[in-house]
Amino acid sequence: MNEAGTGADASPRGSSPKDSSGARYVEVLLPMPLERNFTYALGDIPPGTLRPGTRVAVPFGKSKLYTGLVVGFGHRAPEAYEAKEVYRVLDEEPLVTELQLRHWQWIADYYMCTAGEVFRTAVPSVFLLQSETRVMLREGADPDEKDLDDTEFLILEALQHQPVLSVGEIGDIVDRKSVLPILHRMIGRDLLVLQEKLQQGYKPLRARFIRLHPDYEDQAALGELMDSMGRAPKQSELLLHLFQLRRGTDKPIRSKVLQEQSGTSRAVLKALIDKGVLEEYFLEEDRIVSPGGGAQHQPPELNALQEEALGAIRSGFESDRPVLLHGVTSSGKTEVYLRLILDMVAAGRQVLYLVPEIAITEQLVRRLQRVLGHRVAVFHSRHSMQERAELWYHVRAGEEKASVILGARSALFLPFADLGLIVVDEEHENTYKQFDPAPRYHARDAAIVLAGLSGARVVLGSATPSIESYHNARSGKYAYARLDRRFGDVLLPEMELVDLAEQFRKKKMQGHFSERLREEVEGALGQGGQVILFQNRRGFAPIVECASCGHAPQCRNCDVSLTFHRHRKELRCHYCGFHRLLENTCEACGNPTLDTKGFGTEQVEAELAELFPKARTARMDLDTTRGKHAYGRIIQAFEARETDILVGTQMLTKGLDFRNVALVGIMNADSLLNFPHFRAHERCFQLLTQVAGRAGRTRERGRVLIQTYNPNHQILQQVASGAYDAMYAEQVYEREQFGYPPALRIIRITFRHREYNRVGEGAAWFARSMRMHFGKDVLGPEFPPVARIRNQYHKNILLKIRPGSGLAQTKNSIKRIESSFNAISQFRSIRVIYNVDYI
Ligand code: ADP
Ligand code: ZN
Repeated sequence: MNEAGTGADASPRGSSPKDSSGARYVEVLLPMPLERNFTYALGDIPPGTLRPGTRVAVPFGKSKLYTGLVVGFGHRAPEAYEAKEVYRVLDEEPLVTELQLRHWQWIADYYMCTAGEVFRTAVPSVFLLQSETRVMLREGADPDEKDLDDTEFLILEALQHQPVLSVGEIGDIVDRKSVLPILHRMIGRDLLVLQEKLQQGYKPLRARFIRLHPDYEDQAALGELMDSMGRAPKQSELLLHLFQLRRGTDKPIRSKVLQEQSGTSRAVLKALIDKGVLEEYFLEEDRIVSPGGGAQHQPPELNALQEEALGAIRSGFESDRPVLLHGVTSSGKTEVYLRLILDMVAAGRQVLYLVPEIAITEQLVRRLQRVLGHRVAVFHSRHSMQERAELWYHVRAGEEKASVILGARSALFLPFADLGLIVVDEEHENTYKQFDPAPRYHARDAAIVLAGLSGARVVLGSATPSIESYHNARSGKYAYARLDRRFGDVLLPEMELVDLAEQFRKKKMQGHFSERLREEVEGALGQGGQVILFQNRRGFAPIVECASCGHAPQCRNCDVSLTFHRHRKELRCHYCGFHRLLENTCEACGNPTLDTKGFGTEQVEAELAELFPKARTARMDLDTTRGKHAYGRIIQAFEARETDILVGTQMLTKGLDFRNVALVGIMNADSLLNFPHFRAHERCFQLLTQVAGRAGRTRERGRVLIQTYNPNHQILQQVASGAYDAMYAEQVYEREQFGYPPALRIIRITFRHREYNRVGEGAAWFARSMRMHFGKDVLGPEFPPVARIRNQYHKNILLKIRPGSGLAQTKNSIKRIESSFNAISQFRSIRVIYNVDYI
């Protein structure tokens, strides 16, 4: 099936009236890749109960049940098919705003997907029950029978016999037509949950908190208690400290803090808990907010440079343009955002603060809450469905606790009541672009459009702006503000390039550590500083090779070598997750001569154990950060200086603020330089500058060592001298020469199928047809470096779209070619995937 469906010309999208009066039909958007909306008859349902964005339960296909959205009204029956009737209306108030619907349509049109695909991504699936959705009893749900009606009782009983049932199956037990509203209601009452894969890995980071047992809140009881404490001086000491901590605040008190302040042991605390005097309870770290209300702290005074940048941003806002804040690492961009956020919150409007990765929220939320208190909420894809659903309603109602939403790209889809400002932090990060599945949108660009629709301001921030954004700033499309110095005038770290070839020649390497790097690590640790080591590969070694026959184990599903993970003695595929144990002998020739090539973070960590046995090390990569809060734990341990050396992949680069990093070491810069992509050099510059920026953020100047075989490479020289403008000029020049963004736009079209030949033929046919329209602007088809992933072959065509050639028209031509393509029977099963503004 082709993802984007067929011919765009058939689409009546967005054309139907939004006014319900007298309507007998509704147009319904379904959360599926359908090219068209479907028309349903209203039957007895009064049209006045519906508005665009209201959910309805509708039948679809052969006896399937779906949750759809009303998007328009009609008076006449459709001609092509007999309209089915809407089963039930699911909302009193629309779940989705009209503004959101317009935004989704823009995303669908621009990124060449269907509005149904945007709908499916945008709305938490708990709102989208359909026949296949599987539900179960919520653990610990213990409803009072009195509160249940007959049908609800029946459903709960069924779920006691069989723990997981699909909505369709429940529909067979009760009345199909009303099953969706009933289930939605039961989920709302916290009786049922969706069966989610995520729930298994869900281990919230919880902290212990302590409070006085409510029995003792009474003065007399408390007096009595204190009198009886005479024989336990440590316990009364601890209680006194508790009262001190409680004074003038109603913030929760951590058990650990109380223990530290009172200088008592856990045993003392435990004794009081056992006596029933104190109560311990748990809160999740990122849900801890002050119940009392207002902000806790004034934000710090801005320095002169920051004030100037703030002024530039505000005047950029006056001209109704997005503003690019280009500030070196640790220049205090976050403090500047905070001022803008405070302005907006004071004006009673909402703020969306986008970060490239949920992981960053852990550090940032604490920083924001210090100033904004309970007005900050985190939207986390690893939060449970229920939590996300709750936040959805808070945001839509414009509640105070949803004034500032911090989240990764999908937070863009929340139903803001009155959005006033969007901050896109680290705007250059490529995680802002959704890769798979559709919609393949860029959150920065979609945010700018959303802001346009909402009358909101946008500020994009980065120390290393994307070439596109800097280009837009220079052309005046964006306003521009710059912060050239680090806060407190701390110098940017001193950079040194270490020539690996020379170090090898002089026999100065130990493992993957040059003599210089070893000296510097030792020096940093000796002075009580911390160290970050960056290697952009995880695992122990990316390739295992037999020294006798040269055989290297490959993934059975993908065309890649398996990576060796020593800790688990496994070979793993980083594309599909396939893994198996590593045998002692070569599977091809049987000799025990397996050897590894290349190195990943795991190997760096292993070498550290030999070179610096006393240092406490930790590793941060995909393998160590799977649980919801694993990342937070690693970061907090590093912040608390429980770790001396942190080894990690690019996860380390994304906007973390550490106080005490004296040295950053780049183990090997060459793989970044040699990556075959038109953005390789831009990314290499960004990645290295960002990871270097973690060094010396306060007081002492930090050091950065870059190990490489190409110490004279232009990009590395530019990184070492912080020459962003030179890098930009060179990259723009090259891209103009070779025809890449920002000089023009690109669309990548991927063809995917199990059969090698069929992909080849289909892609060739498509490319030929495209050449008739677009001539030389069509590149390919070509196999990507990894041509087979999960047993699917991939082949790409790249289309270059020159400025001035209409984008909408171009897309229509492509869609028409796709229609003809689909008319050819042997091509119909090839998936065609569009990636507009492929990055
Ligand atoms: P960036 O976002 O540009 O990397 P941050 O906003 O994280 O920089 O600031 C770097 C450090 O300097 C942070 O620890 C921050 O608290 C501190 N800082 C920045 N501006 C100020 C200020 N005006 N007053 C006090 N501390 C500041
Ligand atoms: Zn694989």
